[in-house]
Amino acid sequence: MKIHEYQARQLFREYGIPVTDGILCHTVSDVEKAAREMNRMVVVKAQVLTGGRGKAGGVKLAKTVNDAVSAAKQILGMDIKGYTVEKVLVADAVEIQKEYYVGMTIDRNTKSVLFMASSEGGVEIEEVAKTNPEAIHKIPIDPDLGMSDFMARKIAFKLFSDINLVKQAADIFKKLYKICINTDASLVEINPLVITNENKLMAIDGKMNFDDNALYRQPEIAVMNEPDEDEKKELKAKESGLSYIRLDGNIGCMVNGAGLAMATMDVIKHFGGSPANFLDIGGSSSPKKVIAAMNLLLSDKNVKVIMINIFGGITRCDDVARGLITALDEMKVDIPIVIRLSGTNAEEGLRIIKEKNLPTVKSLSDAAQYAIKAIS
Ligand code: GDP
Ligand code: MN
Repeated sequence: MKIHEYQARQLFREYGIPVTDGILCHTVSDVEKAAREMNRMVVVKAQVLTGGRGKAGGVKLAKTVNDAVSAAKQILGMDIKGYTVEKVLVADAVEIQKEYYVGMTIDRNTKSVLFMASSEGGVEIEEVAKTNPEAIHKIPIDPDLGMSDFMARKIAFKLFSDINLVKQAADIFKKLYKICINTDASLVEINPLVITNENKLMAIDGKMNFDDNALYRQPEIAVMNEPDEDEKKELKAKESGLSYIRLDGNIGCMVNGAGLAMATMDVIKHFGGSPANFLDIGGSSSPKKVIAAMNLLLSDKNVKVIMINIFGGITRCDDVARGLITALDEMKVDIPIVIRLSGTNAEEGLRIIKEKNLPTVKSLSDAAQYAIKAIS
């Protein structure tokens, strides 16, 4: 689960990490009021669950209330990487001497929190990671020891030489580690952490992701969830008994069983295709479930062909075939479909489907190749 910058800032503040003040706004007139209230230079910031807002024009400095209003007009409703901006944060703007990057993530290799820090912070950090990875210090934090004073200072000395800044940084690092552990975060980032003209370190952006499997014990984090359009779809799918994850490809997959769904995606990739989703319809063959699954696939504009892959075990292929036919009779599908049935009662299933003149194939490989050909 991801949270917005304004929410990450709330957590930072709770833990004593210095952040600038800000007011969350949903409309241009909210922004006008906030800018008037703050009565100083502000920065208007798109609140969307993706990075790179600055580069996309979603972060704008505003010297006057009028500037803030025109920034809000430009940013609200803007599309950033497929996310529509529905709210902005109006934050106190600071004069920046220098920008730093600080992040923590879970590293499975070292079984620890990996602390990352760089004096090359700011909007180009991805570029730095690619072209100059040595500029990002990476330090695993032993989970038994936690972030000791010594370790925090040692990392701080890698970024700063002024002892006053080292002290501030070490304090921030310790607090950041505490947030990471206490909230079951899988990622915490401050980018940038800045030195202000008053020689103070401040977080002026925050990003946090959390381990979904830990949310049951993190009620305060769970309530922060503001699902985006894709996530809303995934939640709705869950209610219909489907496991659905949207991907970027164009072959819509409908499969029974999570392992088979993974294998199906692998085989599509193997033949040079690109799956549009992971979709496990589970063990049941109920037409209702199949309809829900079909609707889910058809609601994705990227899906150009549907590939159905069923392996009959306890679930019988003839049952599934009847479910499919009932579903297809009830809805209009104007893109190609290919169906592969194998396992218990597959022959009977295939006969039922052939009667309806729908294309069937014998193997998973054939199905993948058929689907790829259908759209090329
Ligand atoms: P991101 O692009 O999504 O990471 O959004 P950020 O919140 O990190 O903002 C992008 C960039 O805008 C920062 O790296 C800063 O250079 C600049 N910026 C953001 N807030 C301020 C501010 O208060 N003052 C100044 N001078 N620049 C800011
Ligand atoms: Mn940033």
